[in-house]
Amino acid sequence: MAPRFFIKTFGCQMNEHDSEKMAGVLLSCGFERAESEKEAEVIILNTCAVREKPVNKVYSELGRFKKTDKIVGVCGCVAQKEKKRLMERMPHVKFVIGPRNIYKIGEAVSKAFEGKKSLFVEQNGRCPITDLSYPVSRNNPYRAYITIMEGCDNFCSYCIVPFVRGREVSRPSRDILEEARRLADEGYREITLLGQNVNSYGKGLEEKIDFAKLLEKLHEIDGIEWIRFITSHPKDFSERLIEAVTTLPKVCEYIHLPAQSGSDRILELMNRKYTRQKYLEIIEKIKGAGKYFAFTSDFIVGFPTETEEDFEMTLDLIKEVEYEGVFAFVYNPREFTKACSWEDDIPLQVKKERLKRLLEVQDEITQKMSKSYIGRVVDVLFEDFDEENGELLGRTRTFKMVKVKGDKSHLGNIVKIKITDAKMYELRGEMAGR
Ligand code: SF4
Repeated sequence: MAPRFFIKTFGCQMNEHDSEKMAGVLLSCGFERAESEKEAEVIILNTCAVREKPVNKVYSELGRFKKTDKIVGVCGCVAQKEKKRLMERMPHVKFVIGPRNIYKIGEAVSKAFEGKKSLFVEQNGRCPITDLSYPVSRNNPYRAYITIMEGCDNFCSYCIVPFVRGREVSRPSRDILEEARRLADEGYREITLLGQNVNSYGKGLEEKIDFAKLLEKLHEIDGIEWIRFITSHPKDFSERLIEAVTTLPKVCEYIHLPAQSGSDRILELMNRKYTRQKYLEIIEKIKGAGKYFAFTSDFIVGFPTETEEDFEMTLDLIKEVEYEGVFAFVYNPREFTKACSWEDDIPLQVKKERLKRLLEVQDEITQKMSKSYIGRVVDVLFEDFDEENGELLGRTRTFKMVKVKGDKSHLGNIVKIKITDAKMYELRGEMAGR
């Protein structure tokens, strides 16, 4: 039997997709996928360095494997951040691979079986990061990720991403369109375009293209019915893009638009390059286009010098936008970043108390927004089936999870569902027209 691998993924959708790419490479090299960590001979941690907690978690996970005879390797942002230091602290780790080197995974695992260690963390400038010649082993048969750009040039003062994922590089549109066509041929109905800042897609490419144009081109592909994208940066959300997002029928009515703070003073310190007003203008224009759009966002609380007044401006913004959900975190300094050299002057207790207040405000809004679906008929793409409860699981165009009693024959279909009940993060419904 061929050696089996198990990839444990931390962090964002970019990491989830990188794990799919690595699994594709390993399968093509003759390795097999294990269903659990226990069954695997090779354990790969694909890691996230955006916050301190997940980094500590990676080290504690690695500690668990000190005494096993399994091959253990680390990929992703922690690998890129820690580089050789990781192997020095954890000598049982056999390979360390940064996000720009994921295609070396087959080589690294093979070498590990020969008793050799590998360190692949070089970032040669603006090299393309997704190569169509490698297979991808996707986790979902109906919804697929497509990387359209990678890295970031924005250097928000708190963010480690430009240092671990490298500088911004866009994929040529012909590669992206080719990947989307292949996915349509394989029966995928939905694509999610991935990048740290998809709105600045096209920068540095020879062809003259921007993100709005890319959406238009993808829109023409038969078979792909829903298009999503993540993550957007408010400073690059142009009029052209608002027009494309609100008028192209295949583009889903769901936008993750990280605000980070509602205070202009803090936004400036964060180097976000937009104001609260500019942010709200984007939201208003999209809301005013005549379709219901769901918004989600990211917030950091307790950024250096954040006053109670600054924080209340964040709460006001949340109330004004009425997000369907937010991801909020307390600030902690990240190595290499500008803010790391500033005094982290907000006491942890204050940060935690602000986070709690923010989440309380948002929970109430999330409840209200969820309840507003009751009675509506929405399109749902069913992607999974819960055998035990006889329930189909799917998502709306606004990315809300929906559960419906039914049978497997609807898997992969987009079905009209009447929403009958709503919990905070989950809707229930029945086939419309019954
Ligand atoms: S836009 Fe800012 S927060 Fe987002 S990845 Fe780039 S530096 Fe980080």
